[in-house]
Amino acid sequence: VLKEHETLYHLGLVIENIESMSDAGLAIVDYATKLTSTPAGSLGLFDEKSEDMILVASKGFSDDFKKVGRWDIRKSGLTSHILNQKGPFAIADIRDYPNPNLLLMREGVVSLLGAPLTIEGRIVGIMYVNDFKKREFSAEDVSLFSLLTVYAALTIERVKSIEEMRVMSITDGVTGLYNHRYLMEQAYKEIQRALRHNHPLAVIMLDIDHFKDYNDKFGHLEGNKVLKEIARYLKKTARTTDIVGRFGGEEFCVVVPEIKKNGAVAFAKRLLNEIAKNSSFNRNVTLSGGVVTFPKDGKTPLDLIKKADTFLYKAKKQGRNRVCS
Ligand code: GH3
Ligand code: MG
Ligand code: MG
Repeated sequence: VLKEHETLYHLGLVIENIESMSDAGLAIVDYATKLTSTPAGSLGLFDEKSEDMILVASKGFSDDFKKVGRWDIRKSGLTSHILNQKGPFAIADIRDYPNPNLLLMREGVVSLLGAPLTIEGRIVGIMYVNDFKKREFSAEDVSLFSLLTVYAALTIERVKSIEEMRVMSITDGVTGLYNHRYLMEQAYKEIQRALRHNHPLAVIMLDIDHFKDYNDKFGHLEGNKVLKEIARYLKKTARTTDIVGRFGGEEFCVVVPEIKKNGAVAFAKRLLNEIAKNSSFNRNVTLSGGVVTFPKDGKTPLDLIKKADTFLYKAKKQGRNRVCS
């Protein structure tokens, strides 16, 4: 008993300092399997949005199992069954279970102990320990496992809120794009990388034309809808390696690695054209753009952005709804 208390105490110390979900999951699964002397285990996180389970951590399984990543909760499946329990649920031999779980059987799992992870009755995840042979779990196994599920649920909640705060601190509340500070940090990193590897990179600055007038005519909330829609379009169109941020009020910035001048200008023009064609606004919305490329137009983020701003100003002066480079 003393050894178990010691183990739980150590787990408490370890997870207290963990700030990422996968690290937390791995630590918990590791302790769960140790305390129940099982060779395998897993922890899933309930995704409230999709109502799927996301595999956070596993131990003792094949790479194929890890690749599953996410599984849906079938009505008559094992996951549903366990989520409907108040506490741990043991299966001595899953071959006798009416709804066999093919994934587990393929892994050679024979017995398991599973439990829902809940906070005040709300499901936050699921945890399993598994054995590859038939096994009756002792009352002690079940009680230790039950205790661990409390740690697991609390840890999931804590790490989730840390991750949410992390997202909030780098994004802009209106558009969901990166905020100015984070955009600059990332731009700086990308430009350093471009410099190191001598690779091209482009910075595209975009500014909505006559947006003050749009706000004045249709109201601030309608203006916000425009910002959101443009942000959505930019995010959808950009590649995952591009950095899209809200630079300021009605200004956006896209940092595009591995692209040369011609490509970047064509890309910016395409963005402008597509947004100008968007008919979901109260009237047509156009943008002006300034495009610079590294290293030709500047070698520091600040130089590049200053120059892009100069081009943007030029585009405005030349009549708006155009790209200058
Ligand atoms: P230009 O074509 O020269 O860019 O004209 P403009 O009216 O777009 O530029 P100006 O800088 O004069 O005005 C920017 C406007 O953007 C004014 C401000 O009310 C609006 N704006 C800035 N941030 C927000 C926001 O978060 N929501 C809304 N609705 N409007 C915003
Ligand atoms: Mg502006
Ligand atoms: Mg403007």
